[in-house]
Amino acid sequence: MLLATDLDGTFLAGDPDSRLKLYQLVASHPEIQLVFVTGRGLENVLPLLADPTLPQPDYIICDVGGTVVDGHTQQPVQAIQGEIDNIWPGERLVEDAVAHLDGLQRQEVPQERRCSYFCTEDAISDELRKIVEEDLNCDLLYSSNKFLDVLPRGVNKGRTLKNLVEHLEIDPSLVLVAGDTLNDLSLFEQGYHGVCVGASERGLLVATEHSTRVLHADAPGCGGILEAIEHFGFLGTKGIDAETHDVLEPGKSDLVIVYHRLPYEEIEENGQIIRRRPKSPNGIIPTLLSFFADDKPGSWVAWSIHEGKGRSFETHTEVDAEQYPHLVAARVPLTKKEVDIFYKRFSKEAFWPTLHTFWERANFREDHWEVFLKVNRAFAERTAREAAEGATIWIHDYNLWMVPAFLREMRPDVTIAFFHHTYFPSADVFNVLPWRKQIIGSLMQCDVIGFHIPRQAENFVDVARGVMPVEVKSKVNCAPRFLTYGCAVGLDEMTSEIQVYDRRIRLVAHPVGLDLNRVSRALDDPGIQAKMAQLRYEFSRTKLILSVERLDYTKGILEKLQAYERLLEEHDELQAKVSLFMVCVPAAQEMTIYRKLQTQIEQAVGRINGRFAKVGWTPVQFFFRAFPFEELVAYYTVADVMWITPLRDGLNLVAKEYIAAQGMTEGNGVLVLSEFAGAAAELRGAVLANPYDQQEMVNACYLGLTMNKDEARARIREAFDIVSHFDIQQWGEDFFAAVKDSQSTLLEFDADAVKKPKVA
Ligand code: UDP
Repeated sequence: MLLATDLDGTFLAGDPDSRLKLYQLVASHPEIQLVFVTGRGLENVLPLLADPTLPQPDYIICDVGGTVVDGHTQQPVQAIQGEIDNIWPGERLVEDAVAHLDGLQRQEVPQERRCSYFCTEDAISDELRKIVEEDLNCDLLYSSNKFLDVLPRGVNKGRTLKNLVEHLEIDPSLVLVAGDTLNDLSLFEQGYHGVCVGASERGLLVATEHSTRVLHADAPGCGGILEAIEHFGFLGTKGIDAETHDVLEPGKSDLVIVYHRLPYEEIEENGQIIRRRPKSPNGIIPTLLSFFADDKPGSWVAWSIHEGKGRSFETHTEVDAEQYPHLVAARVPLTKKEVDIFYKRFSKEAFWPTLHTFWERANFREDHWEVFLKVNRAFAERTAREAAEGATIWIHDYNLWMVPAFLREMRPDVTIAFFHHTYFPSADVFNVLPWRKQIIGSLMQCDVIGFHIPRQAENFVDVARGVMPVEVKSKVNCAPRFLTYGCAVGLDEMTSEIQVYDRRIRLVAHPVGLDLNRVSRALDDPGIQAKMAQLRYEFSRTKLILSVERLDYTKGILEKLQAYERLLEEHDELQAKVSLFMVCVPAAQEMTIYRKLQTQIEQAVGRINGRFAKVGWTPVQFFFRAFPFEELVAYYTVADVMWITPLRDGLNLVAKEYIAAQGMTEGNGVLVLSEFAGAAAELRGAVLANPYDQQEMVNACYLGLTMNKDEARARIREAFDIVSHFDIQQWGEDFFAAVKDSQSTLLEFDADAVKKPKVA
C-alpha cells in the first residue's frame, strides 16, 4: 500500500488517539509506503522529520507538487524533478511579472519552483490569469479562499504523485490519497482510492461527491484516514485493530527516576553480586532517593551489567527496605561491551566534547550511535513498564537523550522531565552533532527540561529554533538569582516556556546544590580535624593554592599550570612562599582520549618544578589520584586560594564545596573561579577570571593570594549564603515544583484545545 497524504488538516490533524493509532500502524507496517504531499516548502517539512512520534515518509512531495524528494536522503527524485525544473520560469521572472498588480501579498514562507501569495478572490483578475497562463506559461491555483500559487504548467500535487507512482512502478489500486482542501483536489483526480477527511473544505467535498473511489470520512485528520483504510480493506481481514501493541500497559510507579547509575553499588565477589551503599561523589543520589520517602510506589531505572550466557537476571531489586520500602530498582541488563561503547566511549568521545564547546575533539561514529539508540530504547522500555498511569518520569543527563523519544510513543500519558547535568552550548557548536535533529526531536517530547543556569537553557532554545518552529511563550528575568552581565555565562533574561506545534515545554534553571551535612560531618570527624591541624602546620610558611578536578581538557589544567608558571616569573617574591597543590583525578582506562593530556600535564609540572624548585620547596605538588571527599574538605579549610579554571563547565561542585567548608569554619580563603563555570553565574563573592586570558588568570590568582582578610571573609560569607540556601534538597524541590506547575498548565492547555479544535 502507498499512503499519499496531505499534512496540515489531514495527517497532522485528528484527535490524539487516532493520530497515535495511525502513526503506529504505519510504523509497524514497513510495507506501507508513506508519501507526504503538501503545500509546505521542503524546509517546513524538515522539522516533522525530527519528530520521533511521526512515522518517516519514504517520499515527500512539497511546494504543491513542485518539489519531490526521497524522504530518507531529502535528495530530489531527479527523473521527476528534472522535468519540473525545465518548465519553471524562475522566481524572479514571476515576481517581476505580477509586481504591478494590486492585492497580492507574497507569503513569507519557504517555497521553491512556485510563488505563493495571499489574496482575496477578487484579486484574481483576467489580467493576472493572462500573465500567469499565457506570458509565464504557468498554472494558477487558488485554495482556502486565501492562498494563491503560481506553479509550473501542469504541476500539482496529483500530477507529481502520479509521476512518482509510475516511477516506482506501484500498482495504482494500492494507492490511497488523503486530503482536506481544494489544494488537494488534483490528488483525487488520478483515479486512486481517496479519502476526504472529516471537516474537509466544502469545495473539495462537492468536487469529489460523485466519485465511488472517494470516501467522505466522518472523523477529521488521522481518524478519517483510518476509516478509509478499513473501508477500502487495505490491510486485509485483520484490519487495523491488532497493530497498537507498542503502547504498553501502565506499571505501578508514580515516580520513576531514570539515571545511568543504580542507587547502590554492585560488586562482584566470588561470582556473587554484593550490593552496598553508594559512595556518591556529590550527594545527588541520596537527594533523589529522598523523593521516594512517601508511601507511593516508585522505581529507579538504571543499567546493570549482564553477560547473558545462561545466567539469570533479576530485573527488580530492593534498594533500602527500611528507608524506602516502596522503591524498587528496575535494572536494564547491558553487556560490558554495550556499557563501554554507550557510556565510556561514545558519550565521552562524541557528546562530552561537543557539549563543552570542544567539538574539534569530538569523534562521531554511526555504529556507536546505533548502540546508544539501542541502550536508550532499552531504558525507555523499562521505564514505560514501571510507570503508572500519568506518572512523573525524571530522566538524567545527556547519555539518556533519546529516552524521551521512545518513551513518549510507548506512554503518551506520562509527564517527562529531564535534567542536564553538563554545559549546553549554542547552535554554532551543538549543530556539529550529526544527530542534532533526532536529539532535539527527542527532548521536545519532555514537559520540563532543566539546566544549571539560564545561559544553558537559552542555548537550548537557540539550538531548537534551528530544528523546528519554536514559539517563546514566556520569559523570566535572571537577576537577582543569577549574574546578568557579570560573567561570560551570565544572562539577563531567559525563556521559561516554549511551544512547538501542540506541545508546551517548560524550561528551568536550577543549579545543583550541595549536601551540606556531608561537609559538616567531615568537619566534625576527629580524623579530619587532625588532618586539618597537620595541614595548617605544613602550610604555615607557604600559602596554599588548591586545585581539584578530574583529568579533562575542559578543566583548563594546562592553562592553569602555564598561568602559575607566569605568576612565579612575574612575582618572584612568591617563590618559596606559595605552593600549588594539585589533585587530578584520572579517567577510566577505556577513555583513551585523555592520555595525551595526561602526558602534557605531567610535562608541564615537571618543567615548572625543574625550573623553580628550591631545597625544601616544591612549586607544584601534583597528585594523580582521587582523594576521599572528607580529606578534600580538610584541604578546602586550609587553602588560601581555591583555583578553579575550567574553560567550560556545567556547574563545578568543587567551587561550592570550598565555599561550604570555608563558610562553616569562618575562613578567609578566596575562590578564584573561571567565568566559564556554571557556578560563576550563581556564586557572588568569587574572584572571576577568563581562563583564555593568561594575564587575567595571573592577576586573579595574585589578587586572591594578597587579598585583605576582612574582604576575603566577607566574600566567603556572601557566597556561603547562596550555597547554604540553595542546597541539594532545595534543588530537587525546585525542580519538582516546576514539574507540578507544568502539569497544571498542561491541563489548562488541553482544555483550550478542546474548546478550539485545530482541524481546519
Ligand atoms: N572529588 C572527590 N575526590 C577528588 C576529586 C573530586 O571526591 O579527588 C569530588 C568533588 O568533591 C566533587 C566531584 O568530585 O563533588 C566533582 O564535581 P565537579 O562538579 O566539580 O566536577 P565534574 O567532575 O562533575 O566535572
